[in-house]
This record gives sequence, C-alpha cells and structure tokens, in this order.
Amino acid sequence: MKTSLLGLSCDEIAELINVPQKFRARQLYNAFYTGRKESFDVIIDIPLSLRKELSDKFAIYTATVDTVLEDDGNKKIRLKLQDGLYTESVLLQDGTGRQTICISSQCGCKMGCRFCRTADMGFQRNLTSGEILEQFMLMKKLAGKISNIVFMGMGEPFDNRENLFRAITILNDPKGIGLGSRKMTVSTCGLVDGIRTLADYRHEIRLAVSLNSAIEEKRRQIMPITNRYSLKELKDALLYYQQQTGKRFTFEYVLIADFNIGAEDAKALIDFISGLSVLVNLIPWNTVEGKPFTTPDRQAIMDFCRILDRADVNYTLRKKKGFGISGACGQLAYKGKKQDK
Ligand code: SAH
Repeated sequence: MKTSLLGLSCDEIAELINVPQKFRARQLYNAFYTGRKESFDVIIDIPLSLRKELSDKFAIYTATVDTVLEDDGNKKIRLKLQDGLYTESVLLQDGTGRQTICISSQCGCKMGCRFCRTADMGFQRNLTSGEILEQFMLMKKLAGKISNIVFMGMGEPFDNRENLFRAITILNDPKGIGLGSRKMTVSTCGLVDGIRTLADYRHEIRLAVSLNSAIEEKRRQIMPITNRYSLKELKDALLYYQQQTGKRFTFEYVLIADFNIGAEDAKALIDFISGLSVLVNLIPWNTVEGKPFTTPDRQAIMDFCRILDRADVNYTLRKKKGFGISGACGQLAYKGKKQDK
C-alpha cells in the first residue's frame, strides 16, 4: 500500500518526499487542494522525472467511490478504502440549495450506542486524516460547492482526535481549501476530554453533543459512554466549553418511543440545559432492523415538544432528511459489509 500525501502539512510532505527543493512540498500541497489534482502525472509544474518518482512511491487519493445513491438532491457515497474496508459520507441540501457534508471519522465505532447501526459493526479502525479529507474532496467533485461540514458520520470523532484535528487544520487553511472554522461541527457522544480540547482550540469549530437522555440511568442504558463520564462531568465540560468560547452548541436528542420522550424526560432535559446556551436538535429515531426500539408517533413527539415550548427551550425538530437513501449513520457501509460476506 502506498503512503498518501493527502492529509499532511507542507512540512510533513517535505519530510516524506525528501527532495532538495523545499518549495516542491508547497507545490504539491497547492496542487492537491487548490488545483484539485488527483494524480501526480498532471501536476505539470513539477519535472517529469520527479512526478514519476512520486507516483511510484506515493498516492494522492487512496479511496474509490464505490456506490452513489441520490434522493431529492441529497447524496450518499460509499468509499472503498485501500485495505478493502468501507466508509461513507452523506451530502444534505437545505431549502436554499446550500450543501452540508456529513463526514465519517472511523470505520465502525467503539462507543456501542444501542440505537445506532454503526455500533453493530464494531470498531474496525481509525480513518487517516487523508481519508477524512478524501470524503470532502470526492464529494465536492461530485456535488459542487460544499458550505458546511459536520463530523457526524460513522465513528466517534474525538476517539480519533489527532487525525480529526489534522484534517480540520487542512480544511481550514486559507492557503488551501479555506473553509471557515465556524462552518465545521464536531459531533460527539460526550467524550469529555475531547470537548475540553475543542474548548481550548484556537479556532471556533462548532460542537454538537449527542445527549439522548438527561436521566443518568436511561442514558447509561442506551449510551455506555455514560459509565465513563457521568452527566455531571459532561455538563462541567460543556460549561467550560461555553466559558472558553462564548459559543452556543447543539444537543442532539434521538426520539425513541416509550423511552425518552415522556414528561419526566422533558423535565430532566429542561433541568440539564439550565445555565447552558444550547439548541436542542430533536431527531426521530431512524429504524434499524433488529433493534428493540420504535420511532414515536407524531402525537407523542408533539406532546414532548409542548413541554419544551412551555419552558422556552430552543429546539428544532429534524425532518426525515436523506433517510430515503439510508441517510442515518452507518447504514450504507453496513449494507456493503453484509453483501461482501
Ligand atoms: N459519535 C458521534 C457522531 C456519530 S453519530 C456522536 O455520537 O455524536 C451521529 C448522530 O446520529 C448522533 O447524534 C446519534 O445519536 C445519531 N444516530 C445514530 N443512530 C441513529 C438512528 N438510528 N436514528 C437517528 N439518529 C441516530
């Protein structure tokens, strides 16, 4: 397998290619991100002999687009990685045509959330920073301008922190892709050390936290991470994040029938968010076959929302965006994995 030069800083490229002319690394970096070159052969400002040498030793892209599904402007791609594993990315279009890409950070996941399909795959491996970036570059080629990135695909981004931050640094680099840090959101199941790192990070990356229940015991039942970090530790980290950044963040709350949308759940949620500047994103659970959960009916959701309304909670209710193309986390790669058996 060839080493990819995508996802590396200029200094790292220079070190790897090890040629006397230091500016070659910058030329390559520009060719990848500004020129969007996908092969060394077409980077014509580099001498032919060096281009040949580079293609023998290194790769730019290591993944291939294996499947593309489209549904009403939304797209889902499955990428086949160099070692035969799969990962996936979803592109969602809002009403105004603005496009957001949902990027995966790992193959599979270790977090074991009971309602999530990716959890069933187990953990396979971390994605490299290059593989994280490839998702963005390949989707951009397919779909055009991408305005926002959410690290909300397969995996737990803060469980692959080093590669996540490497990718973010390159995405954000004004000399390259130049996507504003405020256009990127990292979604975590609540890895407190990751939240604290983000709070101290010099750029304003946005934060989303999958809460799913504000009752400790219930959250533990569906999100094992609660055994590692209590709700109190999570809240302390979020207060710290807010104190450091002054930014509002998002709670994601997957709505599961007869489980986390009763009056006591709403009350616990209202208590938990007091003192935090937060938008709660309510997401009706997207059915995953074989799991002991159901999606709530409209009435049950409305009853829950009414309690939040009375307490002036700032929330949105997500419509079934992209679900026609198995938009929920892990579904496409999982299908692929089954087919390959
Ligand atoms: N590990 C990160 C990011 C991946 S999960 C995190 O936990 O935030 C992205 C989001 O999808 C999370 O908010 C999760 O709660 C939600 N999710 C997972 N499976 C789902 C399903 N079947 N239906 C609806 N939302 C789901």
